[in-house]
Amino acid sequence: MKIILAAPRGFCAGVNMAVQSLELALQHYGPPIYVYHEIVHNQHVVQTFEAKGAVFVNSLEEIPSDSTVLFSAHGVSPEIRRVAQDRRLNAIDATCPLVTKVHLEAIKFAKEHYTIVLIGHEGHDEVIGTMGEAPEAIVLVETVEDVDALQYSVDTKLAYLTQTTLSVDDAYRIIQRLRKRFPWIIGPQKEDICYATQNRQEAVRLLCQQADAVIVLGSQNSSNSQRLRELAQEFDRPAYLVDGPDDLKEADFQNLGTILITAGASAPELVVQNTLQWLKDRFNATVEEQEVRKEEVYFPLPKVLRQIVMKS
Ligand code: SF4
Repeated sequence: MKIILAAPRGFCAGVNMAVQSLELALQHYGPPIYVYHEIVHNQHVVQTFEAKGAVFVNSLEEIPSDSTVLFSAHGVSPEIRRVAQDRRLNAIDATCPLVTKVHLEAIKFAKEHYTIVLIGHEGHDEVIGTMGEAPEAIVLVETVEDVDALQYSVDTKLAYLTQTTLSVDDAYRIIQRLRKRFPWIIGPQKEDICYATQNRQEAVRLLCQQADAVIVLGSQNSSNSQRLRELAQEFDRPAYLVDGPDDLKEADFQNLGTILITAGASAPELVVQNTLQWLKDRFNATVEEQEVRKEEVYFPLPKVLRQIVMKS
C-alpha cells in the first residue's frame, strides 16, 4: 500500500491560536478554565484538555461568577459577551480573526440597512455567533433551494456573507444563484471562506484522483472535515471521516493500492501519525507527502495572554 499524505492538512492558524490560548490560560490561572462550547470541534483535543482541567459548557449559567472563561475559535454573539460581563467572568476571546472579519462585515452591512443573506449551516457555533451580531438583518440559507424561496424586490438592499468553513463549490453555486435572482446583491470585499478551508479542499481535489480511498482525520461535528469527506465522495472515492485509527476497519482497506490521508483544520497531527502507523502495521504501507500549497499563516494570541507571555 502507498499512502499519499496531503499537505497542507490539520491545524490551521485559528485553531493553533485557540489551543495555545487554552494551554496558557490553564498554566497561568490554573484549572478549572471554563470554555464556552468546544474549543475546536475535535474529540481528541477536547478530551485532552478535559484531562488538564478545562470544563466545556454550553451555557454561561453553568459557570460560577468570577471564573475564567475562554470563547472558542468559532466566536460568540454580542449577547454572550454581555452575559459574561454581567456575571463578572474573566473572559478571554480566542475567536479566530477570520471569523471576527465576518462578524464585522455583518455589523457594517446591518448599519447600512442591508438585508444580509448568510450562507451557512444552521446550528453551527460560528453561524449562531455571526447571526447574533444583527439578528433582525440576517437570513440564513443552506442550499440553492433556500435561495429560490427568498422574495426580495429591487428596492431591498441585499448583501451576502458566508460561514468560513463551507464547501468552496457549494458556496459558489449558492452565490451564483443569489446573483442570478438578485443581480443587485453585493458581497464581502474579500472571500469569507478561509484560506485553511480552501487549501485543504484544494489538496483533496488535486490528490484524490491518484487514490483508491480517502481517510479524513476529524470529528463528525467538524464542518470543514465533513466538507473534505464529501469532496472525496464527489470524486467517487470511498471516504472515511474518523477521529483516529480506532474508528477504521481493516477490511475496508484490503487490496487497495493507494490511500489519500488528510486532516480537517481542527484535527491534531498526532492522530494523523497514529493512523499512518496503523496502516503501516497492517499493510506495510509507505508514505509520500505531497504538498500542493505552502501555508505560513500565524495569528497572535489574545491580548491578555500576550501580556502574560511578555511578563513571564
Ligand atoms: S478553519 Fe479558518 S476560520 Fe476556522 S479557525 Fe481555522 S483559519 Fe479560522
